[in-house]
Amino acid sequence: MIKVAILGLGNVGTSVLNIIRENQDIIYQKIGENLDLVGALVKDRSKHLNKGIYLASSFEEILALKPDIIVELIGSVHPALEYIVKSLESNIPVVTANKEVLAKHPDKIFTLADRKRVPIYFEAAVGGGIPIVRPLKVCLAANRIKEIVGILNGTTNYILTKLDEGFEFESALKEAQQKGYAETNPESDLSGMDALYKIAILSSVSFGKLVDINELTSEGIQKISLKDVLYARELGYKIKLIARSCVKDDKNDKYDIRVYPMLLPFSHPLASVNDNMNSILVKGDFVGSVMFYGQGAGGNPTASAVASDIMDISWHIINSHTHRLSGNIKSKAKILKQDELFSRFYLRAIVDDSPGVLAKIAKVLADHNVSIKSMVQKTSEKGLAELVFIVHQCNEQDFYMAIEDLKLVDSVKNIALTLRVYED
Ligand code: NAP
Repeated sequence: MIKVAILGLGNVGTSVLNIIRENQDIIYQKIGENLDLVGALVKDRSKHLNKGIYLASSFEEILALKPDIIVELIGSVHPALEYIVKSLESNIPVVTANKEVLAKHPDKIFTLADRKRVPIYFEAAVGGGIPIVRPLKVCLAANRIKEIVGILNGTTNYILTKLDEGFEFESALKEAQQKGYAETNPESDLSGMDALYKIAILSSVSFGKLVDINELTSEGIQKISLKDVLYARELGYKIKLIARSCVKDDKNDKYDIRVYPMLLPFSHPLASVNDNMNSILVKGDFVGSVMFYGQGAGGNPTASAVASDIMDISWHIINSHTHRLSGNIKSKAKILKQDELFSRFYLRAIVDDSPGVLAKIAKVLADHNVSIKSMVQKTSEKGLAELVFIVHQCNEQDFYMAIEDLKLVDSVKNIALTLRVYED
């Protein structure tokens, strides 16, 4: 028997109980032992009396049950971090689905796990039920990973899909909330933070580097309107919230790890990932491109990943194998700054509908080494015109300085939106 204790019996924790109970035969067949659910820790025990598991009154009591594995499914940073640290310090392997604590404290968690030689598994922290952490750590381990580009947040993908179907932003968000895809406070999803935690974790695993989340930036989807989605479609693009991590400079070992909404050409494999689905495209130097697709959240898909981690650790315990550790995540990743990055951009501006305006805009852009690839005038009413530009690849800092200068031009009434445009 492998003794398993669970911290948190919410959405995911309850599904973990269910999968271990309902699929006990399959689990036994694969690892040759049963999993014994010895106890759980929750915040309010009265809510969980019917769950058929012993409810501990403190973390110390969980430790006293002498579990072989502790499964952390509380979420957020405190007390999850303290419990993970205490488990590892007590030489107890940990399984967690907690992207936030891993992304914010990789130095504490991975360093401690490696020093103690105790494993921490976190397949469910990125992509819910989609296998991505183990494929990166194991199956693709011999490759130099060049790029990871993914749709890692189901809430925002659902909202963008609804915009594509003709909904305005507010009604798309409301529908996502009604379907349970978006939380009452959807800030972490909409701002791109949730996806940033996940891409930081995937980058650590792929590149073997500690990624400091404070050095990364995310842009959200809050400013995107139905109008932008329709204009992008006319130009041959879909707007998606993209989490991207790439090595930009092999020699200096510098990384570009960010989250932003982006125009993807229709032909890009991620452009057809719709609704609340997630997908991740990984490019390795020998394997080429590999794509993963599935339910990035939800109790059952996430529990599937948690249970597989529990089984993997159990297999090692049963067979007295040395555990697979976090993968030597040690030195810190150097993150590229804005003035070292280049991109193509989409720009939508509201301007006076009068002669000479376009020339003024082109001059401001040119003064910052930004050149226009294409421009369309979309509407013209009440003396105002809406202009949509795509600009050639340029230095990102130059582009944003040009935008600041454009805001000072009299005839430019509003810079409604700027978005990056994908290129390989
Ligand atoms: P949840 O439904 O909010 O459940 C959290 C659980 O933790 C509850 O059972 C709660 O107890 C317990 N808890 C809260 N504070 C506690 C404390 N101080 N001490 C002990 N227990 C405490 O969360 P969830 O959706 O299951 O998510 C769990 C983890 O999985 C999070 O890290 C999340 O990011 C991750 N994850 C979730 C999904 C998903 O689709 N839900 C997908 C991927 C990853 P009470 O029930 O008594 O309040």
